[in-house]
Amino acid sequence: MQELKHYFNEMGIETFWYKKSYNKNTIEQSETSLSSLKNIVSVCKNCDLHKTRNNTVFGEGNESAKILFIGEAPGKDEDKEGKPFVGRAGKLLTEIISSIDLTRRDIYIANTIKCRPPNNRNPEEIEIKACSNFLEKQIELIKPKVIILLGKVAANRILGIDQPIGELRKKKFLIKPNNIPAIIFYHPAYLLRSPKEKKKVWEDLLFLKSVLKEYDC
Ligand code: SF4
Repeated sequence: MQELKHYFNEMGIETFWYKKSYNKNTIEQSETSLSSLKNIVSVCKNCDLHKTRNNTVFGEGNESAKILFIGEAPGKDEDKEGKPFVGRAGKLLTEIISSIDLTRRDIYIANTIKCRPPNNRNPEEIEIKACSNFLEKQIELIKPKVIILLGKVAANRILGIDQPIGELRKKKFLIKPNNIPAIIFYHPAYLLRSPKEKKKVWEDLLFLKSVLKEYDC
């Protein structure tokens, strides 16, 4: 929790941590488990990113999670370890999750695309499209009650729009076909680079808590 506390303390915000108990492409239609889908992704060559990756980063967490976080693309550390949200941004995300009394084991985390773009550039449209079936199948299999989109790339990909994140935050969207509520949150890597956004992050955390409460998450 230290990184997040430090983050808010720097701007004089007294952190109040909400506490409650929590008890916790080509895909065959017959693909019915995340593990078999992960195997398919691990050998995927649907776009050029397979040429430069060290590992695919499929996603991890509770396969029956009520809350699904979706980021944009693996970075250097994720590519090295084959896991989503490791490194400093991952640590900040873990602390954000902890602040609403959840752990990484309670949620599922995936990315819009499963291979690292060279030099951490934004994924290109053709790569996002090539990888889209995998993400859609993950959503179908996990059946989350709420989806949290981390950053503009994930937000625009899932919502099918092209808007700055400032216009998307503190709003609730319904994702077709099952009308799963989705909200937008700043990407942790962006937060680490943009200390001026701290006040907004605090507001977004409060909004996030209210939506999770509304959907009994
Ligand atoms: Fe396949 Fe997705 Fe990796 Fe492209 S990014 S090679 S579509 S798994």
